[in-house]
Amino acid sequence: MQISENSPTVLVVEDDPNIVHMVSIILNKSGIKTVGARDGEHALEMLNQMMPNLIISDIMMPNMDGYAFRRELLKRDEARLIPFFFLSAKGKPHDIVHGMELEADTYIPKPFEPDVLLAKVKAVLRRYSHLNELLQYDALTKVFNRRTLEANLSAELNRVKRYKQPSSIMLLDLDHFKNINDTYGHDFGDMVLKKISSALLENMRDTDYVGRIGGEEFVLVMPNTEKKTGVLAADRLREIIARLVFDTAGLHVTISAGIATAPEDAEDIEGLMKKADLALYKAKDSGRNRVLAAE
Ligand SMILES: [Mg+2]
Repeated sequence: MQISENSPTVLVVEDDPNIVHMVSIILNKSGIKTVGARDGEHALEMLNQMMPNLIISDIMMPNMDGYAFRRELLKRDEARLIPFFFLSAKGKPHDIVHGMELEADTYIPKPFEPDVLLAKVKAVLRRYSHLNELLQYDALTKVFNRRTLEANLSAELNRVKRYKQPSSIMLLDLDHFKNINDTYGHDFGDMVLKKISSALLENMRDTDYVGRIGGEEFVLVMPNTEKKTGVLAADRLREIIARLVFDTAGLHVTISAGIATAPEDAEDIEGLMKKADLALYKAKDSGRNRVLAAE
C-alpha cells in the first residue's frame, strides 16, 4: 500500500535507530507513515507541531524515559487521547502492569513479532478513525464541528504568525433560514443545510476546510490566502450555492458572507471572527446574497 498525505501517522519514540527502522519498514509496507523521536523530550517537542494517530514508545531511553514521557502526555488534554503503545525489553508482569497503569492501549515486549505489532496497530487505527469521525464532525452536515474548526484555525493562526503569510476566513450564514424552517418544516431545513454543506465541501479549494459553528452559520478557512483572493473564492461559492435548487417548485437559498484576513484584520480567533461578523452583518444589511470583506 502506498503512503499518501492522508495515511495515518505513527510516532515511534525510541533511542535505538535499528528498532525505529524495523518498525518503520513493517508499518510503511501497510501504508502507515512513521516519524521517529529519539527520546521522550524530543517526542514532546514534536507533538507541538504534529498530531500523530498513534504513539509507540520505548521505556528505557536517555533524558526522558517512556514512563516519564507517558506521565507528561497524561497531563495534556489533546495528547492524552492519542492511542499509545509501550514497546519495551522490560517484559516482566510487573513492568506490563505498570505500563498499563499509565493508560497504555497495549504493552508489547521486545523482541516482538512483526505480524502481531502490525495487527495491533491496524486494529487501534481503525477503531480510532471511527471515534475521530464522531468527535470531529457535525453529525448532520459532515463538515467539522465547532471544536475541530477552532482547533485547526488556532494552529493555522500560529503558522500565520510564524511564516508571515496571510490566511483568510469566510463566515457565512444562510439567508432567511428561519422562514425556510417555518414554512417547510425542520426536516426540509436539515436537507437544505446538508445540501449546502455538500456544495461547500465539493467546491472549496483543496487546502480549504469548513465547519458548522451554529444553526445555519459556517466558517470556511482559507490557508495562505490574502483577502482579495479570499473574496473571489468566497464569491464563487456564493454563486454556486445560489444556483442550487431545493424543491420541484424551484426554491433557491442564498448565503451572505463576511471575509476577514489574518494578520491584517486580527491575529487571534476572537478578533478575526468579530471582523468577519461585522462584514457579514453589512452583507445582510445591504441586501443579502453577497460577500463583503472586513475593512
Ligand atoms: Mg531503549
